[in-house]
Amino acid sequence: MDILCRSMLFDGKAIVTAIDSTETVETARKIHGTSVSATNALARVLTMGVFMSAGFKGLKHKLTLIVDGGGKGGSIIVCGDCGSKVRCRMDEPRCFEGEALRPVEEVIGANGRLTVIKDFGLKEPYNGTVKLVNGNVDTDFSYYFTVSEQLPSAIATGVAFNPDGSVRAAGAVIVQPMPNCPQDIIAKLVDVVGHFSDMDKIVATHTPTKLIEEYFGEFDSKPLQPTYPAYVCSCSREAMERVLISMGKKDALEIIEERGEIEFHCDFCNKTQVFTKEDVEKIFEEADDKNNGSDKG
Ligand SMILES: [Zn+2]
Repeated sequence: MDILCRSMLFDGKAIVTAIDSTETVETARKIHGTSVSATNALARVLTMGVFMSAGFKGLKHKLTLIVDGGGKGGSIIVCGDCGSKVRCRMDEPRCFEGEALRPVEEVIGANGRLTVIKDFGLKEPYNGTVKLVNGNVDTDFSYYFTVSEQLPSAIATGVAFNPDGSVRAAGAVIVQPMPNCPQDIIAKLVDVVGHFSDMDKIVATHTPTKLIEEYFGEFDSKPLQPTYPAYVCSCSREAMERVLISMGKKDALEIIEERGEIEFHCDFCNKTQVFTKEDVEKIFEEADDKNNGSDKG
């Protein structure tokens, strides 16, 4: 089971988050049939989605990350709900198929933007956009947190593969000093962060608990409640039925006449819902019944 662990350091003057997102990333790989290079890039953005939706409290809170850097993989979209329940899609999941692992920067590209949308169910969702620095994810998200959220952050994501291209381990470590954090503590943290340049190896050998113990144990580390991330799609047949109803009966039946059935494809779980003529008629009958009922009631 995947896990996200957080610990307060130095009496709350800084916070470290360590994530094991192996199963979440492997699920994404299977759903989208990603090549090794695509998995390598997608995994890192997805893990950032895990990190950024971990703190969401309400069921209506929604995170959307859009990374569009003009690389071979095209744009990547990650959505997250509270408790790090995430899903993703990618334009070109098979980029560099059959080739040796390519750098993340080549898959994502560096000519574009990272957009973060946080919808807390209020009038206007929070929307922050930064230019990509180099397309390697770590630097780009670090830059985003510093510039858009005024929260300097050291970020290292990691992915390790099995010989067959499946995910052996994926995860990240994120270190964030609080605004009141003294310089000497920041200096100590910067020293430790230096160890994470080879995070691809560290994720394969360290659980989040072990990582925090080994690298941050001496910093008066106090663990907080963990979160259990997973790949979860929010689509459902019921949601598709609502889309059908919003199309209107006339348009829906016209498509049926043309194509025999209506198909809705979900890019996030790669599932297709098929509605036959009988399905459509039944759905509109039930919708009419409901409307009539509420008119009278
Ligand atoms: Zn879906």
